Amino acid sequence: MNKESISGLLLAGGRGTRMGHVDKGLQPFGGTTMAAHVLARLAPQVATLAINANQNLDRYDAFGLPVWPDDTPGFAGPLAGLEAGLRRCTTPYLLTAPCDSPFLPADLAARLFDALQREDADLAVAVTEENGLRQPHPVFCLIKTSLAPVLSAYLAAGGRRMDGWYPQIKVIEVLFEDAQAFRNINTREELQQLDPVRPASLAEVVSCLSSYDPDALPVRDAQRIIREFVTPVRAVEQVALRAALGRVLAADIISPINVPSHDNSAMDGYALRGADLLPDAPTRLRVIGTTYAGRAFDGAPQAGECLRIMTGGVMPAGCDSVVPQEFVQVEGDASLAQIVLAPGVIRPGDNRRFAGEDLKLGSAALAAGKIVRPADLGLLASLGVAEVPVRRRLRVAFFSTGDELRSIGQPLDEGCVYDSNRYTIYGMLQRLGCDIIDMGVVRDDPQALEQALRDACENADAIITSGGVSVGAADYTRDIMARLGDVTFWKIGMRPGRPLAFGRIGSGGRSAYLFGLPGNPVAVMVSFYFFAREALLRMMGAEAPLELMRARSSATIRKKPGRTEYQRGILARGADGQPEVRITGAQGSGILRSMSEANCMVVLHDEQGNVQAGDMVDVLIFEGLI
Ligand code: AMP
Ligand code: MG
Repeated sequence: MNKESISGLLLAGGRGTRMGHVDKGLQPFGGTTMAAHVLARLAPQVATLAINANQNLDRYDAFGLPVWPDDTPGFAGPLAGLEAGLRRCTTPYLLTAPCDSPFLPADLAARLFDALQREDADLAVAVTEENGLRQPHPVFCLIKTSLAPVLSAYLAAGGRRMDGWYPQIKVIEVLFEDAQAFRNINTREELQQLDPVRPASLAEVVSCLSSYDPDALPVRDAQRIIREFVTPVRAVEQVALRAALGRVLAADIISPINVPSHDNSAMDGYALRGADLLPDAPTRLRVIGTTYAGRAFDGAPQAGECLRIMTGGVMPAGCDSVVPQEFVQVEGDASLAQIVLAPGVIRPGDNRRFAGEDLKLGSAALAAGKIVRPADLGLLASLGVAEVPVRRRLRVAFFSTGDELRSIGQPLDEGCVYDSNRYTIYGMLQRLGCDIIDMGVVRDDPQALEQALRDACENADAIITSGGVSVGAADYTRDIMARLGDVTFWKIGMRPGRPLAFGRIGSGGRSAYLFGLPGNPVAVMVSFYFFAREALLRMMGAEAPLELMRARSSATIRKKPGRTEYQRGILARGADGQPEVRITGAQGSGILRSMSEANCMVVLHDEQGNVQAGDMVDVLIFEGLI
């Protein structure tokens, strides 16, 4: 096929009536728009591309392609688009595809073109066969550009049917086997269902579990549902190296050089030829010069010669070993020095670092998804990398709910408490490196709650609330959240922190993931660490599951099998130097003091029963936890 002779035309000139008068081509699909999706599939098949559109011309212009509106007025249908294309096309053939058929075949142009040439036809149209019936797809066709006047005459006479002008030209049908490739999207529902990157609904995610009871959900099932439901933000930004600290790498970093770039010495000493080393007598070598770090020695030691070398100094040609200076005796003065080393103090090859030993040119130095730590900054600097692609920061809005809550600075009325959750949540989000939006305290009032959720949704990627999801409080919360989106209320088999609302809500065309955490101050932290944290990291593009360590329990711990219990603990070295953990203070879910005293959380899993002194348990260490 001669691709150079074909232009591709995207037919996007319709009114979009069936989709509710929206411009079909501009609807979101596959992470872009339907138009962009179809253009991407057409692009490899043709020499140039153009768009036929009759509204939102500025948005179509943004594709950087010619945009051709109909010449025949009044939204006269695809045939008018075809006419506009044929009149302006500068290649001998024009291939058309509609903007609402994102699955068009990759060999559409090739097969239509072959048939057209073979049969010496004017127009080749795609057909499929369903239940023995031929189904033509007249908007998928390849036409000789020279037919423009024929089509214009047909349109001018009032003709509108796609195949109405066929009798005047030579048309051939080309049979495609895959009927699905020609399916078009007509309604918003179809658009949602067929979108390959459309996020799954909670119901779809939940259907993967073998059993599901929202009122008795095991911790690990809740974690799994959350993990599968959330999707990462896509946007990437390029930041200066230092600004990448704590950010999530958006792409693998490929080493542009070998590190180190030359073989070099690992010691201060003498570079020598391993072959000169005598196995059972002292070796004597003449020192012919010095090589310093950063300055290569010009020349190569011959047999019986060596070179004084400093750590990091480039290995001179011919030398393959370094003897540390403390292993040699130096004889003679500077200009005529000799060294003597005893047999066996080093072996050939010792103390030499190889080029690329740290990192090979072309190898992945750091993988996408890594959170950049100080060592990574150094590593990137060692590669000479000045700018790093990172995911954009996640925006997280949070607020506390409850009429009894007072903010710092307000008088503490009778029966009220200061809002502490907003501060623990602030701290935990800050450590994750999110952009945070503190929305304050929201009263226990349906309208206030709905407004807060909508505001949060329109400004953030994720929302964290505390309070108001426990059984007594949840009724109207449930209604509002359900009305705003896909939110489920769970009772999780855990202590503390049984209630949790989770899902995604939408408002003003934006959507955000929602974590409705319980109100109790310890329950908030536990739910954040064990449910929200990993999900937020995933949304940031990072894979950073919680790392639990093992430690010996110093005493018995009472524990009921069938639920996960999180107990505040203090981890220290036991008498034998091994890590040992003891439970700290009262474990009531409102008692923050013991949380503050603790340096870890003991995690007792569902199947576990009472722990005996000396048994090993899982712990989550707070120090270093992001
Ligand atoms: P709730 O889940 O709203 O029923 O709250 C459970 C308990 O947690 C109640 O005793 C609340 O007073 C307390 N609580 C809720 N939110 C906060 C907060 N932001 N700071 C401190 N305590 C809270
Ligand atoms: Mg409350």
